[in-house]
Amino acid sequence: MPPSEGIKQMIAATFRARVRYGEPMSAHTSWHAGGPAEAHFTPRDRDDLAAFLRALPAQVPVYWVGLGSNLLVRDGGIRGVVIATAGVFTRIERRAERRIYCEASVPCARIARACVRWELADGEFFSGIPGLLGGALAMNAGAFGDETWRHVVSVQTLDRRGRQYAREAGEFRVGYREVVLPAAHEWFLAAELQFEPRVPEPGKLQALLTRRRETQPLGAWSCGSVFKNPPGDYAARLIEAAGLKGYRIGDAVVSEKHANFILNTGHASATQIEQLILHVRATVERVHGVRLEPEVRIVGEPAPPLPGPPQLPGQPPTGQPPPGEGRC
Ligand SMILES: Cc1cc2nc3c(=O)[nH]c(=O)nc-3n(C[C@H](O)[C@H](O)[C@H](O)COP(=O)(O)OP(=O)(O)OC[C@H]3O[C@@H](n4cnc5c(N)ncnc54)[C@H](O)[C@@H]3O)c2cc1C
Repeated sequence: MPPSEGIKQMIAATFRARVRYGEPMSAHTSWHAGGPAEAHFTPRDRDDLAAFLRALPAQVPVYWVGLGSNLLVRDGGIRGVVIATAGVFTRIERRAERRIYCEASVPCARIARACVRWELADGEFFSGIPGLLGGALAMNAGAFGDETWRHVVSVQTLDRRGRQYAREAGEFRVGYREVVLPAAHEWFLAAELQFEPRVPEPGKLQALLTRRRETQPLGAWSCGSVFKNPPGDYAARLIEAAGLKGYRIGDAVVSEKHANFILNTGHASATQIEQLILHVRATVERVHGVRLEPEVRIVGEPAPPLPGPPQLPGQPPTGQPPPGEGRC
């Protein structure tokens, strides 16, 4: 999707020069794949973002991105405006003995370190989540047996028209890696989180992180677990038992270390990654009769077809992965 001239005209003149057009989302996702955002805007602060949204015509779609560690952006890119907030809303402070206030762009690892310093030991689990608090709120991210929304007291949100709200945790429907907001098109600006005051056990966190490094390919380009665990089982176990470890489409590969991770080992396109996700899902369903649900968010437009001669029936469509599919 080439960046359209139209989008520029829809952005208020005061903001136009600060918006990047055709920004490659591969630079903003941990998979290092994906097409361009038609427009990509980083606000200066809350008021700036609210003013930007108020001035943006209602028909322009808006997509909010944190650190892009749970996101597959298709090769055709994202229509409308991507709001990118990494590095913007970064305040974190202790509000009471058990409570902290934390803005949406604070990295989860920083929340974990602050909790250790403030002797709020059950905040340590945040160290296992590579994204920002906003993404953790949107996903109900979890690690080491704990999850984000067990600790949420209240949140501040912003809607598509730039209006801000204070909401209690009880207004949200929360499940495993799933959060339903009370209204569509609302995003998290900050949260008040509550923890048990307890001195962290020396060495416990380090041991958990070491164990994780031993069992997950953490240095590689991935989005963590691709699929949610089905009730009573593990997606990784099912994928491994279906013989899919090492299966590849181009440079997209099912990790040998942890079968629920798909790695971009070089130049995988988002199309190849998505095709591998679909292949894994279909194979697991055929072998085990279990339909896996993706945990990763897949967004954007499919790749446009490549120019070339018309396809013969039975040929793979253009824009699809080249040969190189199968086991390594
Ligand atoms: C190596 C690796 C290991 C991982 N391990 C774990 C793990 O143990 N547990 C786990 O839960 N996850 C894990 N993840 C996935 C990911 O880190 C989490 O889902 C994280 O919470 C995503 O945060 P983010 O800022 O990167 O969000 P993004 O990927 O940028 O966005 C994810 C979704 O959240 C939405 N979103 C982002 N910010 C906001 C906001 N402020 N308001 C509303 N919506 C928003 C986006 O629109 C998108 O739909 C892992 C990822 C990697 C790469």
